[in-house]
Amino acid sequence: MHHCDCARHDTGPGHPERAERLTAIDRAIVGYPVSQHLRFLRPEPADHCWIEAIHTPDYHRYIEETCLSGKGFADTGDTHISPDSYRAACLAAGAALRAVDEVLTGRAAAAFSAARPPGHHARTEAAMGFCLFNNIAIAARYAQLEYGIRRVFILDWDVHHGNGTQEAFYAEPSVFFCSFHQHPHYPGTGAAWETGTGNAKGTTLNIPLPAGSIRSDYQSAFESRVQPALDAFAPELILISAGFDAHRDDPLGGVLLEDEDFGAMTRWLLESAHRHCGGRIVSILEGGYNLDALGRSVRTHLEALVAGAE
Ligand SMILES: [Zn+2]
Repeated sequence: MHHCDCARHDTGPGHPERAERLTAIDRAIVGYPVSQHLRFLRPEPADHCWIEAIHTPDYHRYIEETCLSGKGFADTGDTHISPDSYRAACLAAGAALRAVDEVLTGRAAAAFSAARPPGHHARTEAAMGFCLFNNIAIAARYAQLEYGIRRVFILDWDVHHGNGTQEAFYAEPSVFFCSFHQHPHYPGTGAAWETGTGNAKGTTLNIPLPAGSIRSDYQSAFESRVQPALDAFAPELILISAGFDAHRDDPLGGVLLEDEDFGAMTRWLLESAHRHCGGRIVSILEGGYNLDALGRSVRTHLEALVAGAE
């Protein structure tokens, strides 16, 4: 699902995180067989209370005021904003919540939120890495507080480490955060020794991979490390931080995944989801900056989700 106002988040000329990303996804889906199995929904902006389930009220106000002020960027220079960015950010968070609603009420077997700005770098009190609100962290909290879901497993396969999501749940044993990412690479976090703290020790699992990694590297790590962790955790819902910038054609990453590898990773997770939580998967768009590769990769991701729901 997406909302056309997400395209009004204007990051300026030459910025890789641009409105055309959503158009490219539309173009790669509409008219293809997979689209006959999809319902396209329009989200509402997330209620303030859900944004503030992850972010501080001060930060929420800062983002609203900074966007409307026309300052041009929030916190870090790479996170460009425009007057419409606040509404787009509330819609992107709202799309993640609506995706959770669809799956947890049983109206959909799986859901994909194709909204922007992305979220996984956004910290509780700071914007960074093109992200304003942490959509997936907000969605995880919402699933817990609104639907009583006890254990949420987040798999983040964006080529960059989801530092904001990790930070949100680093001391939280009810949300397992697992990330595949290129390392060393932006934002620099995500070492294998970062595993959680206190009684959440062991509910963060980082799989740092060198540039040049391919599907078999992901597959062997999934089978030997992720799947056992997932089985031991026995989630009631699986969320995917679905970035497509680990594609070999992506300008912002050095990992060499192909279109079809995103379908394969989806199937690995679906198998686990069927074992533990009735196949319930909510996938939320993060990065992916080569428009053609992004469109095709999202299509294989959705084809796998559709096939897994049948
Ligand atoms: Zn990324």
